[in-house]
Amino acid sequence: MFLSVFEMFKVGIGPSSSHTMGPMVAAARFLDMMRASPFQFAGVRASLHGSLAFTGVGHATDRATILGLAGFVPETYDHNQAETALATLSDTHILHPDGLPALHFNPKTDLIFDYDTPLTGHANGMILMATDAQGDVTLQQVFYSIGGGFVMTEEELAAGKATDEGAPVPYPFKTAAEMLEMAERSGKTISAMKRANEVSRNGDPHLRSGTKRLWQVMNDCITRGLTTDGTLPGGLNVKRRAKGIHDKLIEERGMNLTAPHTINDWMSVYAMAVNEENAAGGQVVTAPTNGAAGVLPATVRYYLDHVPGASEAHIEDFLLTAAAIGGLVKYNASISGAEAGCQAEVGSAAAMAAAGLCAVMGGTPQQIENAAEIALEHHLGMTCDPVRGLVQVPCIERNGLGAIKAVSAASLALRGDGTHLVPLDACIETMRQTGADMSEKYKETSLGGLAVNVPNC
Ligand code: SF4
Repeated sequence: MFLSVFEMFKVGIGPSSSHTMGPMVAAARFLDMMRASPFQFAGVRASLHGSLAFTGVGHATDRATILGLAGFVPETYDHNQAETALATLSDTHILHPDGLPALHFNPKTDLIFDYDTPLTGHANGMILMATDAQGDVTLQQVFYSIGGGFVMTEEELAAGKATDEGAPVPYPFKTAAEMLEMAERSGKTISAMKRANEVSRNGDPHLRSGTKRLWQVMNDCITRGLTTDGTLPGGLNVKRRAKGIHDKLIEERGMNLTAPHTINDWMSVYAMAVNEENAAGGQVVTAPTNGAAGVLPATVRYYLDHVPGASEAHIEDFLLTAAAIGGLVKYNASISGAEAGCQAEVGSAAAMAAAGLCAVMGGTPQQIENAAEIALEHHLGMTCDPVRGLVQVPCIERNGLGAIKAVSAASLALRGDGTHLVPLDACIETMRQTGADMSEKYKETSLGGLAVNVPNC
């Protein structure tokens, strides 16, 4: 099993990796299928199913699908160009993706929210269709957005987990037990094994520049969030709080007035800055998803700004270690809130961040595995119930608390010798089983929990 650090951490747009990025990626893949087809096409249609239908409006799934069919992709998304394309479409009902003829698409009738017919493969299903001049469907594909911006066709999903068809990597660990055994045998750290795997596929210069860019985008996102105030879009009237809290924290610095627990506010504010940017549709990095995108950058920023002796030179090790853990969780359970609740999103993010922090603070592979396990264990059972289907409440604060748990988990693990009762593999399997048992109401449908109990929503 090999899942690149660049698949785990992808530059994209808010507010949701599964509901915004995934549908845009699916539409891009469908356009490629159309380009490769011998048929002449005159129009396109889309239908959204399951969680994509229930929380699609709050997550901007409709907008992302339309822009994807117009040729936009998350990596190079430009907000102003997107607004222009949508305005033109609403006047003309014509899309102009590169390499295809003009395609008829009326957003009011050609994009359907199907609440009654969930698709069988995954909670986030969508069907994309291309039509001929008579309006008959001549090409159709079912896509599933499986979390973190990952997309699979119906056929790929049915073929199972073996989606990695590249050359074998030096350390192909599929479980935490295998990871620890390979580390023991090779004498390498987890990040060194992950680096060897990445280099065997993509080469060293790509890794250096790529991880540097990932941190740059994450940190820029924190900075934007800490300097922007106002109200978030979507109708809940949620006020951005990161800037105000950060301004206060700066003001209080050196005043000898602050309680020791104020350090938690720093961790929270870094995470909230990212998730407020995400909720506003800004540029974020999936870590492993958009909804949970604040936990890991906040933990890195905490390390850089608050841990004595911290160095940016270690960020690559942080990201590689975190990606190794994220790969295990994704392969053996899920990183999708629609599939397994928020334990799979913020829980996975906290496990990844705890492992990364433990690694750059000198933890052994056993301590790193312990840190990831502690962080994930104490998110088990956490549901996904975003109010009004917006990635705002509880998501923004939840990332702050996820970062605090990640730091605490790394710290606790570093105080031990790596031996512990619950193996990470057992914890990941527990998360998978808990997600499978969880009522659909708590899996990104906004049909239960806070989504139905917050007054006036
Ligand atoms: S509650 Fe958790 S899983 Fe659900 S949208 Fe918010 S961050 Fe994502």
